[in-house]
Amino acid sequence: MSAWKDVPAADPVPAYRLFTGDLEKPLLDDRQYRVLQLQNGLRAVFIHDPEADKAAACLALTIGHMYDPIDAQGMAHYCEHMIMKGSEPYPDEGDFTSFITANGGAKNGVTGPMSTHYYFSLNPTQLEGGLSRLAAFFYAPLFTESLAAREINAVDSEFKRNLQNDARRLLQLSKHLSVDGHPNRNFGTGNYVSLTDMGRTGDTDGDEASVLRETRRRLVGWWERQYCASRMALAVVGKEPLDALTLLAAPLFSKIASREYEPDPAVKEPFWGPEHRGTIVIVQTVKDVHAFSLQFGLPDLRQHVTSKPAAFLAYFLGHEGVGSVCAYLKKQGWLLNLSAFTSGHTRGPQTFNVDGTLTLKGYLHYDAVLETIFEYIALMRRSFPFPDYHYAEVATMAGIRFRFMQKGQPHEYAVRLARDMSEPYRTDQLISGPYLYRGKDDATVKQLLDSFTPGRAKLFLQAKEHREEIVGKDVQWEAEKWYGTQFAVRKFDEVLLEKLREASSNTELALPSANRFIPTDLSVTKVEVAEPAKFPTLVKRTDISQLWHKKDDQFWVPKAQVRIVIKSPVAYTTSRHALLTGLFVDLIEDALAEVTYDAGIAGLSYAVSSHSEGIDVTVAGYHDKLDVLLRMVLDQLRQLAVQADRLQVMKEKVKRDYDNFYVGQPSNLSYSFATWYLLPRRWTPAEKLTELSSITEGDIERHRDALFSKTFIEVLVNGNFSKERSLELLAIVEGCLQSQPLLPSEIPHPRSLLLPPGSNIITRKRLANPKEVNSALSYFCQFGEVSDIKIRSVAALLHQMIREPCFTQLRTQEQLGYVVIVTNWSIANSTVGVGIRMQSTRSPWHCEARVEAFLEAFAERLSGMTAEEFAMHKDGLVVKKLERVKNLGEETSRFWETICAGHYDFLRNEADAEAIRALTLSEVTAAYNKLIRPSTGAHSRRKLSVQLISQRLTDDVLPPAPTRQAVLIADTQVVGVLDRAAGERESALKARLECAPAVTPVVSAALGVYAGAFDLPPLVIGDVIQGQTESSTDDSAIACPRL
Ligand SMILES: [Zn+2]
Repeated sequence: MSAWKDVPAADPVPAYRLFTGDLEKPLLDDRQYRVLQLQNGLRAVFIHDPEADKAAACLALTIGHMYDPIDAQGMAHYCEHMIMKGSEPYPDEGDFTSFITANGGAKNGVTGPMSTHYYFSLNPTQLEGGLSRLAAFFYAPLFTESLAAREINAVDSEFKRNLQNDARRLLQLSKHLSVDGHPNRNFGTGNYVSLTDMGRTGDTDGDEASVLRETRRRLVGWWERQYCASRMALAVVGKEPLDALTLLAAPLFSKIASREYEPDPAVKEPFWGPEHRGTIVIVQTVKDVHAFSLQFGLPDLRQHVTSKPAAFLAYFLGHEGVGSVCAYLKKQGWLLNLSAFTSGHTRGPQTFNVDGTLTLKGYLHYDAVLETIFEYIALMRRSFPFPDYHYAEVATMAGIRFRFMQKGQPHEYAVRLARDMSEPYRTDQLISGPYLYRGKDDATVKQLLDSFTPGRAKLFLQAKEHREEIVGKDVQWEAEKWYGTQFAVRKFDEVLLEKLREASSNTELALPSANRFIPTDLSVTKVEVAEPAKFPTLVKRTDISQLWHKKDDQFWVPKAQVRIVIKSPVAYTTSRHALLTGLFVDLIEDALAEVTYDAGIAGLSYAVSSHSEGIDVTVAGYHDKLDVLLRMVLDQLRQLAVQADRLQVMKEKVKRDYDNFYVGQPSNLSYSFATWYLLPRRWTPAEKLTELSSITEGDIERHRDALFSKTFIEVLVNGNFSKERSLELLAIVEGCLQSQPLLPSEIPHPRSLLLPPGSNIITRKRLANPKEVNSALSYFCQFGEVSDIKIRSVAALLHQMIREPCFTQLRTQEQLGYVVIVTNWSIANSTVGVGIRMQSTRSPWHCEARVEAFLEAFAERLSGMTAEEFAMHKDGLVVKKLERVKNLGEETSRFWETICAGHYDFLRNEADAEAIRALTLSEVTAAYNKLIRPSTGAHSRRKLSVQLISQRLTDDVLPPAPTRQAVLIADTQVVGVLDRAAGERESALKARLECAPAVTPVVSAALGVYAGAFDLPPLVIGDVIQGQTESSTDDSAIACPRL
């Protein structure tokens, strides 16, 4: 009996086919699903989630850049850019973006090799408007001539953004080294040249305008040949019942032309020919790195999606526990990290990769590294068939993960399901298919394993500067066509090949042993609550620690998250201290990797990181064995014995990371520099580097003892743990660390500097990477303290209102560059404002002038804004603020953020929503004129910009050098804590306070450590500005030598 039935048309819903079976769902999934296929061939899944506080949809297409015309490389990507900007029913270019942003949502389009997808999320009451716009892109796109000519520049700028990105360069090179004419060779991103190529060779007059017209004509033709309903799948998540979702979506998406093309056109030919196998590709990188990627071709594995043989092999080769390739290579001092995986798409051939980052020594021994991998492959062959427990463990953990899968963001879920509809899962296994292993398939595993031979392998060996002893004297470099990556290809020499073929016994290698971390207790203690609590309880406070606890009361998963911050003033006192703390944390992670890998497989994770206040430790996952892992991490933290060889490896890594930092993405760099500028103390990578060479094992151990001798520890336990268990965990933490308490005034807190009113600070710096063609600008208008509810609500609302018009003006209209990002910028969770970040081949001062012109023009838009438009922006933002947490992880992060900031303001979002609703347009306009608009805010704005200049821009075009020093700046108040009008919420918090003595009001309990500070009258910013500020600083700019 077929699980599908025909449903006749019922106006306005056309006829469709309905899947009548049940989908296999996670245990806790309370959503309802409907899978159907429209008459035009489009497949759809509708998800009814009564709890959804955001609706979402995704349309996925089984066409990507592998289907680009040979003379129009980048076409699929260009089409993705163009299609979402105007349709017959909604002709305005910026319509979709402004509709989605005004309704508190997000949207994007992504082009992959064999698929493209488009998604949005928004206020659930506005789903119809979102679906109506999304559908129109596919049945009536405009591809206007004027936009077609401009948007090529956005694609070109996106390409230029990636030009210096090693991952992109390597990807394109590996594509380039495929069989001639194979679509895997395509240049996915495309650029101006590749896209207009066809326009030039076609029947045009040769002038730019006609080339662009021809390019547009070809775009439309390509779209007609590739886009059709039978290649599309739609996923919609909404509050509405399934019938209502069907009624909303089916008529709209039935309008898309069927065209009846092959639904999932596959690529059948393997990527590589004989000339590509058994080769070493030597690659020059932009960043200072030593790395390798060993690749084997895999056949189309679609008929094996239930047993996942390649992923099963990756479990062995990517293992990091005792006896693994990774552990062995680390012991030799050759390796930093290793991973094994299959390359993404499944519709056709793919590759199996073993990738690793090497030390210099590892690079010099790359042949021995290879030998180890082939020794391990030989060991796997000898051990075949593998003992049953391997597959059982992998399958069991996958099953547990699926069973307790929690909800995530609705748009991410829509993307996943829409894309998976084109994967070869059975319809009833649409949700479970990617997770579950159903029966092992020894024959295919063996067949794949047998194909992993040196003669069929391809090795990419990467370094910034290759050594002569590795590549030889007379190496002939070639340049990859699009990115210019320098590379050389050679066959494995016979001696090495023989060695790899013979690779057999290495007694230090072994298959993974049984995993003691696999959870057995998966019980969940349910407690009946009328409504989930909105914040954790402070269950214990002493002069050394504070423990926050919340027993899960809504997600019901057998999991918990433990977050710990160990605050120590010694962590960041000088650049040397900062470096020592960072190295210490690297060494901890390094020492733990081998012993904790099994825990990771068993769904238990940990992380250790350092920051300016101390060290963060996180342990999360199934509650059953979580305390075992926590103890392991803390013991290591307190007792780490530093080994000289591992310190050497970590120093090498740190040196490279610090050097490479300065050749990162310019827009990100400008953002980091602007943030640093506003921190009272920030040690730059360059400053820390000056200390690196002199650091010894003894230094690290002494620093560790100093770090933990006196601390303040804050702990949050959230999840399936009782209060008693949380107290036991705190006892473990305190017992392991054995610290003494700090004085309250010694406890470090995150804080930010505040610019004086009238600041117009511009800092400039040349980019370090001589090949970087982009410059960058970070332009920041600081409003004030984040603890001031008015200030942060106005900043959030202005951010919400400016985003779309700024993007439309600077990127879509003026085409200044691919990166135009407006942020609601917070510095150290302490001050807040609105920032604009850009990256462009134009000079940053030109960009800054355009930003200011936009900000002037926006004032007019603001004054002409209708009440409805203003209300829509407020509603959109309120929806975002009131978004519920979707899973335990999100809830923990939300609590932890406010605990770390020292605000303990767990109800901030609700308070903000209220404050935003109360804002008037005239208030917002006044704030805009005072704090953002350049002409009216000359004496009141607190503005900082960081301009990073490409070396390709020559000196003679630089505007005059900065002349005057602007003087900073005051520390903002230490903590904002429960803002000024917090009466009601304070009593709500009080009721939750259980710590003894219970009479302590929660505000001072939370603040006990700062008691001294609160004897003082509140800080008035103007009083504490040190030094003199020109209140009318016109273009005063300061050099920022430390950046
Ligand atoms: Zn793009």
